Amino acid sequence: MRALQLARPGERLSVLCLGAHSDDIEIGAGATILGWIAAGIHLDIHWCVLGARESRAAEAEASAAAFTAGAANVRVELGQFKDGFFPYDGAEIKAWIEGLKSKVSPDVVLTHRRDDAHQDHREVCKLTWNAFRDHLILEYEIPKWDGDLGRPNFYVPLDKSLLDRKIAYLLQHFATQRSKDWFDAETFRGLARLRGMECRSPSGYAEAYVARKMRLA
Ligand SMILES: [Zn+2]
Repeated sequence: MRALQLARPGERLSVLCLGAHSDDIEIGAGATILGWIAAGIHLDIHWCVLGARESRAAEAEASAAAFTAGAANVRVELGQFKDGFFPYDGAEIKAWIEGLKSKVSPDVVLTHRRDDAHQDHREVCKLTWNAFRDHLILEYEIPKWDGDLGRPNFYVPLDKSLLDRKIAYLLQHFATQRSKDWFDAETFRGLARLRGMECRSPSGYAEAYVARKMRLA
């Protein structure tokens, strides 16, 4: 299968990452970002966590530093929006996301899925599409109790070493999530294995996205 490349080694790629909570970008797209850096792409990363209150701010900072190590430029922005209430804080969140447009002109935006069952995730997705109307937007997936995983259409194959690093960083940095029975290596590896099978990844592993609209030059 012929594969599309967003950037070749040595080229620059500007990426805006949007996550509702401190572990979302990492769960959905962490190995993709590690892989771009490992491939020698010069990444400009604008990393935004909207709901990074109290203990979750420190873990968001530490985890972002791990996942973006080696990038050409990194900027981390943390919001203080309340977990579980994003749809009710929509006006403030819309202004926050609209404000990003004056700071960054990304080649690609990584955000939540429109069909995600978590209300905070859906709100971030909706407002991403409101704000970024001339951009490539890829929607990453988050496994959860609701069983909302859908049918992705955009795959990033991963070397096994990248997946291993992603899982190690997740378990290292998100102490607040360890009480959740699903937050473990098997969940992350199992989903990556299924997505790898679906795209015939040489390693057997992949991260997957929904790309609702793409333009071929
Ligand atoms: Zn989340």
